[in-house]
Amino acid sequence: MSASISLKSEPSSKPAKTLRLGGVTPFSATDYPGKLAAVLFVQGCPWRCGYCHNPHLQARTAANPVDWAQLKAFLARRVGLVDAVVFSGGEPTIDPRLADAMADVRALGFGIGLHTACIYPERLRQVLPQVDWVGFDVKGPFADYARITGSDAGAQVRASVETIIASGVAHECRTTTHPQLHSPAMLMALARELASLGVRHYALQHLRPQGCPSAHYPPVPSDYPGPEALRAIAAEFTTFTLRPA
Ligand code: SF4
Repeated sequence: MSASISLKSEPSSKPAKTLRLGGVTPFSATDYPGKLAAVLFVQGCPWRCGYCHNPHLQARTAANPVDWAQLKAFLARRVGLVDAVVFSGGEPTIDPRLADAMADVRALGFGIGLHTACIYPERLRQVLPQVDWVGFDVKGPFADYARITGSDAGAQVRASVETIIASGVAHECRTTTHPQLHSPAMLMALARELASLGVRHYALQHLRPQGCPSAHYPPVPSDYPGPEALRAIAAEFTTFTLRPA
């Protein structure tokens, strides 16, 4: 969830010359493992996952409600209070100003985290040298992306995963899951494929139906996807985390 801070600028129809943000969380203990972080929510995502909790960030609006200069001044006052700044969204790699924004944040002395759904492998390749940790979503089997996201984007996601692993940047790969989206066999096959690509740290997070405005999912049963599947998935990775809803 994003929380607004008072950094309003006048709406403008001019092309954004700075990162286009939809919101800021000044303090989070859950968005970068082991670090306290500020989280910046970048506007824009071309996908339409039925379980999206941030549909208000899917559009790229003409207005840029967070002024970058004011935000930098705000972050400068957070030095020593938070360790890192996480770029989230939406999909942060949609924004051509992402690398510049990361450089600005790095210059203040913060670590850099990135949340991405792996949509734009080229932009990812461009920014990864500035990133200290990346949490990336793999929505399901690469051949099955259209069903979940509305976009047949499995090949570009796979390319992004390969780019992240080749970069050596610390990572966590996550899959949001629900019995209506993935069978246990599907999850086990996906785990094997991700491990073969070099993913070492993986999390399954049960879909949270609360706050999904565009789809109606029943609650995830607490025993899903079952002990056999969980054992098989965990065996593929150095670390494995199950996050119940
Ligand atoms: S990729 Fe993320 S931001 Fe985009 S629609 Fe899916 S859940 Fe929402």
